[in-house]
Amino acid sequence: MRYDQARYSRDGTYEPLLSEKDETEVAVDSALPDELTRDSVSLPSLSEPELARHYTRLSQMNYGVETGPYPLGSCTMKYNPSFTEDVASLPSGAVHPDRSPESVQGSLAIMHGLQEYLAEIGGMDAVTLQPPAGAAGEFTGILIAKAYHEANGHDRSEVIIPASAHGTNFASAAMAGYEVVELPSGEDGRVDLDALEAAVGDETAALMLTNPNTVGLFERDIVEISEMVHDAGGLLYYDGANLNALLGRARPGDMGFDIMHYNVHKTFATPHGGGGPGAGPVGVVSDLADFLPDPHVRASNGGYELYEPAHSIGKVHGYAGNWLVLLKTYAYISRLGDAGLRDTSAKAVLNANYLGSRIDFDIPYGPFHHEFAATAGGRDAAEVAKRMLDYGVHPPTTKWPEFVPEAMLTEPTEVENRASLDDLAAAFNRVYAEDDETLADAPTRTAARRIDQVGAARDPQLSWHALGDEDSAAAGED
Ligand SMILES: *Cc1c(COP(=O)(O)O)cnc(C)c1O
Repeated sequence: MRYDQARYSRDGTYEPLLSEKDETEVAVDSALPDELTRDSVSLPSLSEPELARHYTRLSQMNYGVETGPYPLGSCTMKYNPSFTEDVASLPSGAVHPDRSPESVQGSLAIMHGLQEYLAEIGGMDAVTLQPPAGAAGEFTGILIAKAYHEANGHDRSEVIIPASAHGTNFASAAMAGYEVVELPSGEDGRVDLDALEAAVGDETAALMLTNPNTVGLFERDIVEISEMVHDAGGLLYYDGANLNALLGRARPGDMGFDIMHYNVHKTFATPHGGGGPGAGPVGVVSDLADFLPDPHVRASNGGYELYEPAHSIGKVHGYAGNWLVLLKTYAYISRLGDAGLRDTSAKAVLNANYLGSRIDFDIPYGPFHHEFAATAGGRDAAEVAKRMLDYGVHPPTTKWPEFVPEAMLTEPTEVENRASLDDLAAAFNRVYAEDDETLADAPTRTAARRIDQVGAARDPQLSWHALGDEDSAAAGED
């Protein structure tokens, strides 16, 4: 039985909700060439209530931030308040990107305002809104570093990245044409200054750093690190994924960073973009402002205009970026204000520390800020995660960062209250107390059980049929 076609009847058995009989062959009449089209497609033919129930049931089989806590460390899966959606849905927000700047002064004013907000929050001098994701921001930032070095006649070939960094850091540096020098983590989980001393030199174009790092530890030596990199003529890049631990309290610019990206979906509650249709603005210090992507928004003659910075790296995305996502970011920051942003970081750190204090699993590194890496100890972190699903919560990120054995990187975010943190802790602790056999069989209470994770990512079957008959993952076969 296909699980998306099934519903429980009162005696607990499954019945198909949609079945082959609902399918209708619909003729395809297309202007495209014959070899690119089919003669007909098979579509379900349903009444509105059947359709509404179908999608509602599918949504109930899923898990999201509107269902419960989603403590996926590093990803910052927090609930996005719906007022930002209201703002982005206003008819006046629907401006075509080819409109003349004179006719969209309101939108440009908001983009300029957002550039200024982000610059202030990060301690940067100029901000581009163009990159469509955090990873795209990294790539943009490294291209800016490269353009800067080239413009100044520096021939540098390496970017230094701590082993604990997010995989996108390595990819961004490599895509920009740099050799990646991997820095091992020190015994305390932070940057090892001796290892940095040995790695940094004439070839160093930049050091990419996340602070707090990927196990939530603040790099206490950041001023010294910044001096070492700058003395060698390199630039300091800040991966902003963990900025919500510092909001309103500390600024990357003040720590010596020259370039940073903002993951607005992690810090400012816009939807995660799945690598693209989001936003990952990039901030830079004044020496690098001329290299920002084209176009950039600036104030002029009492209004706003788009211009191409003098040594621009060019375009990294269409037009000025994903405007409606940027509008949500602006709305969120405006609503929170200074006090709200400070409150965000206080609660993000408090929640992680409260949750950490309530779980039975060991947390090898601390003191941590907005997230912590617990270890599953002698067990498989993925099995612990699967079993947590049975207790109605989303599990943490597993097996990363790698220097923590069987890591469970946990980030409750600032939006959870004490009751939901207690629920999460209870789920961790129940699994902690269970035997390996129970874990190996989990999950038993979810819509789908052990799925082929690689196949699901590489070869997704995007169909209303969902899982085929041959698939034993159907919940009804339990
Ligand atoms: C999420 C994340 C990124 C990449 O950001 P995307 O917006 O998902 O592309 C980079 N670094 C860290 C530490 C992250 O957690």
